Amino acid sequence: MTQAKSPIIFWFRRDLRLADHPGFSAACATGRPVIPVFVHDGRVEALGAAPRFRLGLGLAAFADSLNAAGSRLILRRGDPLAELRALLAETGAGAVWWSRLYDPASIAQDQKVKAALRNAGCDARSFAGHLLFEPWTVETGTGGFYKVYSPFWRAVRGIDVAPPVPVPTRLPVPSVWPGSDRLESWHMDAAMGRGGAVVARYQSPGEEMALRKLDVFVDKRIDLYKQDRDNLDAEATSGLSDHLSLGEIGPRTLWHRGQEAIRSGAAGAEHFLKELVWREFAYHLMYHSPHILDRNWRAGWETFPWSEDRDNPGFVAWCRGRTGEPLVDAAMREMYVTGRMHNRARMVAASFLTKHLMVHWKLGMDWFADCLTDWDPASNAMGWQWVAGCGPDAAPFFRVFNPETQAAKFDAGGAYRKRWIAEAQKQPPQTALDFFSAIPRAWMLDRDASPAQPVVSLEAGRKRALAAYSDQFSTP
Ligand code: FAD
Repeated sequence: MTQAKSPIIFWFRRDLRLADHPGFSAACATGRPVIPVFVHDGRVEALGAAPRFRLGLGLAAFADSLNAAGSRLILRRGDPLAELRALLAETGAGAVWWSRLYDPASIAQDQKVKAALRNAGCDARSFAGHLLFEPWTVETGTGGFYKVYSPFWRAVRGIDVAPPVPVPTRLPVPSVWPGSDRLESWHMDAAMGRGGAVVARYQSPGEEMALRKLDVFVDKRIDLYKQDRDNLDAEATSGLSDHLSLGEIGPRTLWHRGQEAIRSGAAGAEHFLKELVWREFAYHLMYHSPHILDRNWRAGWETFPWSEDRDNPGFVAWCRGRTGEPLVDAAMREMYVTGRMHNRARMVAASFLTKHLMVHWKLGMDWFADCLTDWDPASNAMGWQWVAGCGPDAAPFFRVFNPETQAAKFDAGGAYRKRWIAEAQKQPPQTALDFFSAIPRAWMLDRDASPAQPVVSLEAGRKRALAAYSDQFSTP
């Protein structure tokens, strides 16, 4: 087979969609057979329980949509380069194309794969699609990268973003398909334990659901987004983060829908785009300063006396939604049950851990990475370092969120806390009860448990945090 007619292998990762997909559309537009492939590699193996579980749901939904369009998703397990080479040999394909990822491990892997395949005469290409702006295309006036959000927003807000490409009209397929694993054999839910059945009820995977959610958001909520988004009890945000994380919807689709909403006068639309650009900023930072993923972004924090003991009783209580601080506990339970947590609640829970409990942000970040179905490496790391005070453009450490004041402001009627905390309620709602069905039995916690007692007094915790900060940073 000449290379001009040979199949193209499209290697999917975090781009599980057909619309707004520049790489896949380009492959289909060649008219050559396209073989969609997903490789279960070490990166998948390393995912936390909830992100891996959610990926499994996303793969099932994506395989269904490929099937409905007359194509298939080929599943392979192993080292990506070895699997892709095997597929090239099996199918006579002459090309491997994929969408770029931007975390350092993916960049290193992709460079290795690209070089090896090209050396072997294969057409190996990568495409944009996960982001609105490739991280190296946005520069400060002096040619550096942005470390503060507001100028980043000003730099990108006027950039012309290409409109999303439509779903390819035809998905050309090979005459013979290569073999594929069965998704069930990967047991993507294995690490969820009994939580899987509960969390599954709160998921709506796939591109079709993502597009439907976007329609509802734009029709009903975007107008009031700016004023309501911090309200813990309101369903005021898009709820699209898990879809964005797995690429079940493309950011250009969101950007252009937001722009249309601005043109039609929706008051909250610009703010929505600003939030979407926080995601871009997180990727920009991760690309240019990858240590954001595992080290304090700012120098001077290395010796800050955060506890790194995973058996620290404060940390254990925080993970289990038993700190005795109702807003924090509600937040942690929302995440355990649904795989998601309201953005305001994430900030309060993260602040409580890193300040009132003086536990290292990395422990919190890792717990989120295990429990969030919308886990995203860049946004999670930036969010934690922002709250902890050691990150770029961070909230200063000495600004300690008071969970009670936050609750009074953003959960005034207590509905959010009631939704997630069963203790002390005569007839708790199903959401609160779901927590007890989801948690491991080893936690020995059930709905008859007495209300948790505060692990720290708010005033003492705040004082201790401020004293540590002043010891570390005040100049003699
Ligand atoms: P919307 O308000 O509808 O916003 C639309 C989209 O914009 C979101 O889906 C998201 O992709 C992006 N976005 C909004 N706010 C932020 C933000 N502050 N930072 C980065 N992107 C943003 N988001 C994740 O997607 N994955 C994570 O692992 C993650 N971890 C976080 C950890 C901490 C400690 C904090 C404070 C925030 C974290 N966030 C994370 C950001 C934010 O909380 C979620 O993106 C948001 O709650 C998702 O809800 P939504 O889709 O309804 O957002």
